[in-house]
Amino acid sequence: MSQQTISIQLPDGSVREVAAGTTPLEIANSISPRLAAASVVARLTPLNGTPAASAASGLQSEAEMYSTQDAAGPRLVDLSTPLTTDARLELVKENDPDALKVVRHSAAHVMATAVLELFPETKLGHGPATDSGFFYDFYREKPFTPEDLAEIQERMFEIVERDEPFVREYEPREKALEKFDHDGDFMKTHFVTKFTQPGDEVSFYRNGKFVDFCRGPHVSSTGRVKAVKVMSISGAYWLGNEKNPQLQRIYGTAFFSAKDLEDYLERIEDAKRRDHRRLGKELELFTVSEEVGAGLPLWLPKGATIRRLLEEYILDLERKFGYEHVYTPDLAKVDLYVRSGHWAHYHEDMFPTMDLETEKMVLRPMNCPHHILVYEAKPRSYRDLPIKIAELGTMYRYERSGVLSGLSRVRCMTLNDAHIFCSPDQIREEFSNVMKLVEKAYRDLGITKYSYRLSLRDKANREKYVDNDEMWTLGERVLREALDSLGLPYREAPGEAAFYGPKLDIQLADVMGHEETYSTIQVDFHLPSQFGLEYTAADGMRHRPVMIHRAIISTMERMTSYLIELYAGAFPLWLAPVQVGLVPISERHAAYAKKVEATLKDAGLRVESDQRNEKMNAKIRDFANQKTPYILVFGDKEEAAGSVSVRTRGKGDQGSMPLDAFLAKAKGLVANKSLEL
Ligand SMILES: [Zn+2]
Ligand SMILES: [Zn+2]
Repeated sequence: MSQQTISIQLPDGSVREVAAGTTPLEIANSISPRLAAASVVARLTPLNGTPAASAASGLQSEAEMYSTQDAAGPRLVDLSTPLTTDARLELVKENDPDALKVVRHSAAHVMATAVLELFPETKLGHGPATDSGFFYDFYREKPFTPEDLAEIQERMFEIVERDEPFVREYEPREKALEKFDHDGDFMKTHFVTKFTQPGDEVSFYRNGKFVDFCRGPHVSSTGRVKAVKVMSISGAYWLGNEKNPQLQRIYGTAFFSAKDLEDYLERIEDAKRRDHRRLGKELELFTVSEEVGAGLPLWLPKGATIRRLLEEYILDLERKFGYEHVYTPDLAKVDLYVRSGHWAHYHEDMFPTMDLETEKMVLRPMNCPHHILVYEAKPRSYRDLPIKIAELGTMYRYERSGVLSGLSRVRCMTLNDAHIFCSPDQIREEFSNVMKLVEKAYRDLGITKYSYRLSLRDKANREKYVDNDEMWTLGERVLREALDSLGLPYREAPGEAAFYGPKLDIQLADVMGHEETYSTIQVDFHLPSQFGLEYTAADGMRHRPVMIHRAIISTMERMTSYLIELYAGAFPLWLAPVQVGLVPISERHAAYAKKVEATLKDAGLRVESDQRNEKMNAKIRDFANQKTPYILVFGDKEEAAGSVSVRTRGKGDQGSMPLDAFLAKAKGLVANKSLEL
C-alpha cells in the first residue's frame, strides 16, 4: 500500500505535509494538546476543488442536516474526520458561533438518546440547532408530562456523564430505508428518501447504542455537552399538516459553560419580567378584546397618556426641524395604490377592498401616496424645497394571526411618518438632518442600544421589488455615501428593502438580543416618477424631486411596547402616566390632600390621590406596585408645616420636604426629560 501525502494549510499560513487519513485532532495534538482540547470541530476548505462562496455553517436547514454531498467550499467536519485531500484547515474553538451550533445539535442527539432509553416506543423526527438552543421532534401517542421532561433531563445528564464518543458510520441507503421501514420510523424514512439519492451511502452518527441519520458534524463525545437544559414542549404536526400525526417538540438549550447557561436563563427571566403584554395588563396600559379583534389593542387611560406624551413630544421636535403636519384619511381608492405600486408589490399585506356604489376603497397600508397628493396640491418651486410633510398616520396591515403580539405586532398602527421632497443635491443634508433627529429622540427616550442596517433588495425576487436596476443602484449609492460621510458603522441585509427602494434601518435589540426595525430612512426615486412629481427649478425648467420616507420613533404601538420593556414599566418621570401618588394618612387630611393635588396639577403634573379608607402602608404599596415615581405621604405634622414626606421609586423614604421644593424639583426633572428621579 502506498502511503499518500497531503498538504494541510493552517490559518497562520504554515503548511503541514501529513499522511492521507490524518485527522484534524491529530494535527491539533501535534501543535499542542491544549489546542486539541479546546477545539470543537474543524473548518475545512478543499484546495483543489472550486471554492464555494458561502461557508457551510448552519445546521438549521434540513437539506444541510442530511445531504451526503459535501459542498466544495468551507465546511465543518468532525475532529475525527480522516483528511484525504489538500485543504485549508481551521480548528474551531468554543468561542466560534458555529461551535455553539454544533454542541447544540449534539445536545439534541443526547436528548433523543435519553428519550429512546426511557420511552422506547417513541419515533424520531429531527433535531436541529436553533438560534437559542435546539429541539427534537418526537412521535409518541402519550404526551410527555412535566415529570417525563424532568426524567429526560436527568437521563441526559447521565448520558453526558457516560462520555460516549460520537462516531460517524455509513450504510447503503437501501439497507437504511429497509430498517427504518421495518421499525415504523416513518419520519426517518421520509428524511432519507427526501435528502439522499438511490445508490448513496447514508451517513449516521452513533453514541453508545443510539444511532441517528445525520450528516453531522458533532462534538467528539457526549461529555462535551456540558451545560444543557430541557426548556419546554409544544405540539407540531408532522410536516406542518394537520392531517398528519401530531408530534411533540421538546425544546432545550446548551452552552459550553454553566455560566453561559445561567446568564441565558437569567435573560429569559428578565425578559418575562419586562414583557410588555404582562406589564400592559398589570399597569393598566392597554387591553386586547376578542370582540374588537386580534391585533387591535385598546389603549387604556394610562397607556393613552404615554402615547399622547410621545405624540406631543415628536410633533414638537419635528416642528423645530421644519416639518409641517397634515391630516389625511385612513383609506383611499384602490386606484391610488395601483398607481403607487403598493397594489402590485404589497398587496398581500393589505386588507381586502371595500366595494362602495361607485368606488373601490381600501384601508391604507402606508401613508406615502396621501402625502404625495399633499405635495401635488399646489405648484412647487425650488425655493420651497425641501418640503417636509409629516403626520401621525394611521395605517392598516394584514398581519397574519400567528404573529400578532400585544402592542408590538398589530393590524392597526399609527406611524410617526414623514416624507421629505427635495432636490437630488439636498439628499445628503436631509439625510443627515434625519439622523440628528433620530439621535435626539433616542437620547430623550433613553434608548442607547441600537445599530444600523442597510436594507437592500433581494435581486432574485423580481416580484417583490420594483424592477429598475438603475434606480436601485443610485439609491444604494446615495445611502452608502450618506452613511460613510457620517461615519456610521452598518451592516447590509439583502431582501429587507422597501419595494420601491433601499433603506437605512435603525435596529433596536430586546433583552434576548432579538433585533427589530424601529426607525427607517428611505431614499425613493420610484414614487416621484410614478406620480410625475415636479418642481420649477432655478433655470425655470421642470425637475423631478426625490422623496425621503422616514419614521423616527416608529409606530406609537411599537415604541410604547419597546419603552415598557426598556423601563420594565418604571418610566422616567416625564413619561410616567401617574407621576405622583398622594397618600393622606387619615381622613382628617383630606382637605390638605385636595390642596396638594391642586397645587401639583396646576403645575402640570399628573397626580393620583388615594382617598380610600385603607391603611397608609397599603396605599403606599399600591402606588409602588404601579411603579409610581413619587409617593407623597402626609399627616398632621406635614399639614402644619406645608410639607410632604417623599418616597422615591427605587430609593425609598427620602424624608420630608416643603411642597414647593418638591414641586420645583419634579418640574425640573420633567423639563429635562431626566432618566433619574
Ligand atoms: Zn444529528
Ligand atoms: Zn412613505
